[in-house]
Amino acid sequence: MAQKGVQVIATEPDGLAAAIGLEPGDTILEINGEKVLDQLNYQFLISQKDESVVLYRKADGDLVEAEVENGGDGLGLDLAADEVKTCKMNCVFCFVHQMPKGYRKSLYLKDEDIRLSFLYGHFSTLSSSDEHELDRIIREKLSPIHVSVHATDPEARVRTTGNPKEGHILRKIDRLLEGGIDVHTQAVIAPGYNDGAIWEKTLAELWERRAFQETGPWSGKGGVLSLSCVPLGLTAHREGLTQVQEIGPAYAKDWVERWTPEARHLARDNGGEPWLLLADEWFTRARVEVPSRAFYSKTWAQLENGVGMVRKFQDHAKRFLGSKRAEGFRGRRALLLTGSSFAPILNQTLMALNKQVGSHLRAVAVKNNDFGESVTVAGLLTGRDLQYAAHADRTASHAKWVDAVVVPSASLRTHTGPTDQYTLHGQVARAQGTFLDDMTLTGLSDDLQVPVVPSGANLAQLLDHLEAADRLPPMQGRDLAKVFHTEGLNLPQGAYNP
Ligand code: SF4
Repeated sequence: MAQKGVQVIATEPDGLAAAIGLEPGDTILEINGEKVLDQLNYQFLISQKDESVVLYRKADGDLVEAEVENGGDGLGLDLAADEVKTCKMNCVFCFVHQMPKGYRKSLYLKDEDIRLSFLYGHFSTLSSSDEHELDRIIREKLSPIHVSVHATDPEARVRTTGNPKEGHILRKIDRLLEGGIDVHTQAVIAPGYNDGAIWEKTLAELWERRAFQETGPWSGKGGVLSLSCVPLGLTAHREGLTQVQEIGPAYAKDWVERWTPEARHLARDNGGEPWLLLADEWFTRARVEVPSRAFYSKTWAQLENGVGMVRKFQDHAKRFLGSKRAEGFRGRRALLLTGSSFAPILNQTLMALNKQVGSHLRAVAVKNNDFGESVTVAGLLTGRDLQYAAHADRTASHAKWVDAVVVPSASLRTHTGPTDQYTLHGQVARAQGTFLDDMTLTGLSDDLQVPVVPSGANLAQLLDHLEAADRLPPMQGRDLAKVFHTEGLNLPQGAYNP
């Protein structure tokens, strides 16, 4: 039977691929006698030898075998995007199940793919990973990967994830650790499902498997590098779904009071490296300050998972305010739209900036009409909600409105339905910037008749964006990745260098 292989979509004009006759439309079937499974596997196989034998099929069906001296490097080509894998779970807090209707198809995809876990830090429950795939992770050293554990207790995991076959997550994790793979883990906390004694068991069993353990029963080469806990998020669209309790301020406060000291204690026992990580949302929901820098990992582990973003932003802002660059904001009038959980924090920083340099920057909390008011994070604001908030603000402003509107970079993330949204060369395919509801950055800018720019990850990036807007109005047709900082837009982090 014909092998599937990976399809070439572009070759560099003077590259090795072109030199051995590969053209767009051809399919690479084997490298050094091994079937090529996908892009990542291609990168692995081609990096194994200085001289490789490539078997490929021409578009007309002819098979060609070619030898190439590649020195362990890639051949200079782009491959068609891989089909993303999907999970086999039915989690009580699944966001996809709580999505309002009518968005683009890719947003309803329950993607769970260890390749994305390795490349982008996406979490996988490993429900789609069979024995072969676990072997592959080990062989290709796809480390570290990110695993949604939720509960190590088999019964609790089954209840939380709705899949009776996926209770024994520790078996899979142990297999990976024994194979030398490091693992970042998370538990999304659902009251009554995996909190209380279940959570304590999860924590204890993952802690036993932590990395850098000097003594103790664990002797594998890999280790559990971190465990984050994240409060579940509920939208207004739960018709027909299992009842689950929301995590409100009181629950969040109890959690913070119980687990913040424990996290500090565990960090001390882990050679000073934080291991138990509390997502920012615990603190914002509890309405308390996020902890200081020392509470977070030195490498900001799980930042993309919402751990430490507020602290990182605030610490950067403090340094920025002490720099000459802050003067670049002098006289600027801008409206910063963000989620209601971050707005008060952002406003504190903006007030200090305004006072110092004479700028007129304001943050406004945007109500999430599409997902429901209980959703307070910036990353789930739609173009429509941002547009509505901007118009309302303009209507309410008696004086001259603003010179620019700033939207959260997280609301332009391209990570959902990733197969059509990136290439392994780090390009953001949706370059123009698209919100969840397919409204574009330029569309919003046209509507508001002022430049609309993404926030970036900090004040320095925001200033870069505002200055880019000064230089390049309007933004139509501009490549977002070239004009704006792309942090938060999910570019590959750990790919081999093809
Ligand atoms: S693993 Fe993720 S996508 Fe799948 S059901 Fe659970 S929360 Fe939803």
